[in-house]
Amino acid sequence: MNNELTLPDYRQQTPEVAARFARLLERPIALEVRGLSKNFETPRGVITALDDVSFSVHKRELLSVIGPSGCGKSTLVRILAGLETPTAGELRVYGEPVSGPGSDRGMVFQGYTLFPWRTVKENVMFGPRMAGQSDFTAASEAREWIELVGLSKFENAYPHQLSGGMKQRVAIARALANQPRVLFMDEPFGALDAQTRSQMQSYLLEIWKNVDITIVFITHDLDEAVFLSDRILVLDANPGRVREVVEVPVPRPRDLGQLFLPSFMGVRKHIDHLIHPPGKAQKEAPVLRLAVSDPDVV
Ligand code: ADP
Ligand code: MG
Repeated sequence: MNNELTLPDYRQQTPEVAARFARLLERPIALEVRGLSKNFETPRGVITALDDVSFSVHKRELLSVIGPSGCGKSTLVRILAGLETPTAGELRVYGEPVSGPGSDRGMVFQGYTLFPWRTVKENVMFGPRMAGQSDFTAASEAREWIELVGLSKFENAYPHQLSGGMKQRVAIARALANQPRVLFMDEPFGALDAQTRSQMQSYLLEIWKNVDITIVFITHDLDEAVFLSDRILVLDANPGRVREVVEVPVPRPRDLGQLFLPSFMGVRKHIDHLIHPPGKAQKEAPVLRLAVSDPDVV
């Protein structure tokens, strides 16, 4: 049987799904990116990592950015977080132009970035204390964030005593403790084994449900992007340009049983075709690939 013929076009949305996206686009814009470009001068010439990238993320949206290795995903998120200066373009958070890092934006990376000599609680307290809170207030706030990520029993543990998934939960709690308005996550689960990774995706949706936060999630994994997102920004490589912003018609709350829904498989196939156009390298690449290959991420 040819699977392709039986999958619906992802645009064939039910009226409920269409209404959900209409409501999403009516919400205030949390993050607006306009005409963002980034050139790197290298000894071998200029590399255009990003070329005229524009998009908006709405309040409490979870938007993923997906694209092949080297298409500029990390460069984009570093610019959004203020760690890198763009060559052109501008960035607004709730209408305010921003440049440079700020506590309005938080970041979770793939690598474990916790302070190894501090306990879980001390790691999470770090931001609030830097923001001038007393130890007492910072500690009680930290406890709430630690509880939210389900690690209350481990508040006095050190990072080396935790599993990879637990460390990333602490990293999420630590980022949220700074109360950012937008959270950027660059392949945060990329180093985890498949089972832990899938658990972390469910945890993230649980956390997101309970916190008023807008998330921009970078991934090269198609299933992860579809499972988590309201919309997915597909980037082209060389130079990095917006290919399409795809609405994910899979209902919420999400669960793993939905992986086989026609809406899930249809949107996944659509994005897979954007990234691996049919006809090109068709022999090597199966039509429904699980992930975009990215040698940066093992
Ligand atoms: P991705 O995260 O999608 O894999 P990156 O944002 O890391 O892509 O890189 C995009 C492009 O920019 C690549 O061609 C990469 O080699 C280049 N690049 C990234 N950072 C630098 C840098 N600091 N200097 C020169 N080139 C860079
Ligand atoms: Mg990257």
